[in-house]
Amino acid sequence: MTVLPYLEVTAASYAASYTTGLRVTGTADGAVLSGACPRCACPFDFSYVRRVYRHRPAGGRAADVLQVPVLCVCETAHAGRPADEEGCGAYWNILLERTAP
Ligand SMILES: [Zn+2]
Ligand SMILES: [Zn+2]
Repeated sequence: MTVLPYLEVTAASYAASYTTGLRVTGTADGAVLSGACPRCACPFDFSYVRRVYRHRPAGGRAADVLQVPVLCVCETAHAGRPADEEGCGAYWNILLERTAP
């Protein structure tokens, strides 16, 4: 398999491709997403830390669906990657629904 060069890119198909077979492990303050990059196909774990709003909004239950920006952080050496970057450069957004505890 040829290793793709590093390229900062997104595509409409990335989210659906990524969430197929994605494993989501909830943590105290976020989630760990285990899946494969839709661009370079390397598997990686992505830690999502929820930003600091912990209290519920007053007056009931908010629809707790979070838009989570994901970027490829695989450990494969993609050619042309800047020293301070990780992965192949691909990024996309997914929606995570927080299930009631
Ligand atoms: Zn990738
Ligand atoms: Zn990769």
